[in-house]
Amino acid sequence: MLCSSFMTACGGTTTKTPENALEAMQQVNVQELNVIEDNYRNVYEIFPYSFCDSDGDGIGDIQGIISKLDYIKELGINSIWLTPVHQSTTYHKYDVIDYYSIDAQFGTVEDYEQLLEEAHNRDMTVLMDLVVNHTSSSHPWFFEAKQYIKSLAPGQQPSAEECPYVDYYVFSNEYKSGFTKIEGTEWYYESQFWSGMPDLNLDSEAVRNEIDQIVQFWLDKGVDGFRLDAVTSYYTGNDTKNIEFLTWLNDCVKEKKADAYIVGECWTNSVTYTNYYASGVDSFFNFDFATNVGTIANALNSGSGADKFGEKIVLVDEMMAANNPNYIGAAFTSNHDNGRAAGVLPGDANKLKMAQAMAMMMGGSYYLYYGDEVGMKGSGDDENKRAPMQWSTDSTADGMCKSVATRVIEMTHGSVETQAEDPDSLLNYVKQGLLLRNMYPEIARGTNEVITECSSTDVLVLKKNYEGSELLIVMNISANANTVDLSSVSINGKEVGDFEVAGTLLVSAEMVTVEEATLQMPAYAIEILK
Ligand code: CA
Repeated sequence: MLCSSFMTACGGTTTKTPENALEAMQQVNVQELNVIEDNYRNVYEIFPYSFCDSDGDGIGDIQGIISKLDYIKELGINSIWLTPVHQSTTYHKYDVIDYYSIDAQFGTVEDYEQLLEEAHNRDMTVLMDLVVNHTSSSHPWFFEAKQYIKSLAPGQQPSAEECPYVDYYVFSNEYKSGFTKIEGTEWYYESQFWSGMPDLNLDSEAVRNEIDQIVQFWLDKGVDGFRLDAVTSYYTGNDTKNIEFLTWLNDCVKEKKADAYIVGECWTNSVTYTNYYASGVDSFFNFDFATNVGTIANALNSGSGADKFGEKIVLVDEMMAANNPNYIGAAFTSNHDNGRAAGVLPGDANKLKMAQAMAMMMGGSYYLYYGDEVGMKGSGDDENKRAPMQWSTDSTADGMCKSVATRVIEMTHGSVETQAEDPDSLLNYVKQGLLLRNMYPEIARGTNEVITECSSTDVLVLKKNYEGSELLIVMNISANANTVDLSSVSINGKEVGDFEVAGTLLVSAEMVTVEEATLQMPAYAIEILK
């Protein structure tokens, strides 16, 4: 018998038979926290408009976010990323009118300063969404430039000496793809997303000086880093120039604050976004694993293989490392632009639990989109992916926001209120997963190695090594029970008989058990050994 070494799994001091998943996990996940305050974080993405309303107008706001920082902290999160908060004409605020402001719908600069202070008091960092591919067409820079263009005589060329703002954007007197005509003139401006979002001319020294000042302003306020919007569109279709600009921007930020953290939205495939690491930017979202067509969804929906998932982790790690040895991966399942995991993995809460766990165990930083901890739904139109945070199933409860969705979205997995009371809920599962990340620095920071002889379509056995300390993560990602023979594996110089159970993630009260060198894994169970 291996009970003396697999102490916790065999019962240890707590012999009570667990009655639910939470009790079962809590019997095992008892190690002290070991949170390193570097840039490997558990990050929570907040869409402010839909998160928490503090003043009853139905629009989420900064004070609402402040009121929920304890909730976020208790999840096990230690960083928040807010999608844009600057003055804008749209609810999503990805078209900025004033980079030095906070939109009045959300509050004031003072509110934002309070948010920074309250987050920092809880050892949480704050990432600001920096949208410098384009501005709003209502930005004063663009307004001035457009007025000037309109004043030109036929055949006259614009001059930055007469109007410095013409240099801020890309004007042309012939039509090109992605350009919009300025009414009453022969001139066009670049606007790759739509006419309301004119592209900034990032070659302009004046524009770079503006960005430098914006970055300085918010770093001085205490912002800990930036999420960069739409980096592939900086110079549309030109990765080389995009990487050059990102190198400049990364240096611009890091020379002001050496430990600032930057994550870029490079919405492409891993062959491309891993190359962007050459810019020195810490992280790019690991899109290949996310969304409805990603590796995680494929493994859970179409049985593409736990082993293949592991091999892909190792491969992408190598590709990132080849471009920047200090890379930090950025795992996620969905975000404000993609259908939520609950729709990608329909019907089955166990798959939702496993999807989040798979992203958490990949390594690097882990990004949780608000509401995914309770399995919120939403797909199709962007508005539907940004539904009101389900604090309660009562849409008139405190903090609830009005919906921007274009259809009624049926939330089938319950609210924060109902799931907090349910020991088998997704919410309680996600908290246990984040707890494990906060106990074991190896999960986020360790190198990944697939133990191929123990891995299969159903099971991944992944070895992590962080500064010589090894963890073995055994994941049964299938709806079937599985046995895993670990007799060929050694970690920390020990053979299987001497492994200790370090943590577990379970979807029911049924725990992982041990017989000789073999783990009996219930459906969708994860066991962590050291
Ligand atoms: Ca409000």
